[in-house]
Amino acid sequence: MIKDLYPFIQAYALIIGLAIGSFLNVIIYRLPHNKSIVRPRSKCTGCGTQIAWYDNIPVLSYILILGKCRNCKAAISIRYPLIELICGLMTIMLLSIYGLSLEFIVILLLCYMLIAITFIDVDHFIIPNEFIIFGLAISIIAHAFKLLPISILEGVYGILAFGGILFIMGALGTWAFRKEALGFGDIKLGLVLGSFLGPELSLLALFLSFIFAAFMSIILLLAKEVGEDHMIPFGPSIATGTLLTILTKTVGGGNHIINWYFTNMWTGEYFF
Ligand SMILES: [Zn+2]
Repeated sequence: MIKDLYPFIQAYALIIGLAIGSFLNVIIYRLPHNKSIVRPRSKCTGCGTQIAWYDNIPVLSYILILGKCRNCKAAISIRYPLIELICGLMTIMLLSIYGLSLEFIVILLLCYMLIAITFIDVDHFIIPNEFIIFGLAISIIAHAFKLLPISILEGVYGILAFGGILFIMGALGTWAFRKEALGFGDIKLGLVLGSFLGPELSLLALFLSFIFAAFMSIILLLAKEVGEDHMIPFGPSIATGTLLTILTKTVGGGNHIINWYFTNMWTGEYFF
């Protein structure tokens, strides 16, 4: 019975994800400026015209108005529909991993938060404390009602692993380069994420974060997109590493990357 309903549940998840992506666009744009995220309604950044509801439908409106403001023809950033699409697809993927469960809701909220953090950190080099408090509140609720597959103790080990390693790396970097190498916001984010992931997945997420950061640094240096101070925000890498860790969780538990590592690398049977 529930199996027959699954395509409808998936379609519903996609629509919810797209709509939340649209809301995240508002948060990403307004939160760093301390503007209200509920009022007023969205306006064109070019001419200030209020955007009609039919021009504010996730992804679809962008295609219909060909990425231009209906009034002044100013180009609308491709980032808006992209964030909506990422949120929509991510919602379906997480649903297929976790099924309709409270754990699904918890992880979903965490992942939406990581998307918002990524783009705010890219734009402003900050991770607003609102997100740290939001993540902490969800973590406490999730642990209090045992909605996560890890114990509170494992959560504490995760905090120590994720936040602790970032803190040590930041301290070493600051000492080596004689300037702040890692923002305190990154470390606070690491503490929060560790409480959700536990020690094992925290280490995987950190490992993937560093690979992604190295990869992005090379691309940005080659594209000469790095400023005079050579600052590259680390928040997007932490978010990407964590999202990859969460999205590679197997349906039955465990993690594809860790399983692959232990079955193929560890036993010497590399690819065959
Ligand atoms: Zn306009």
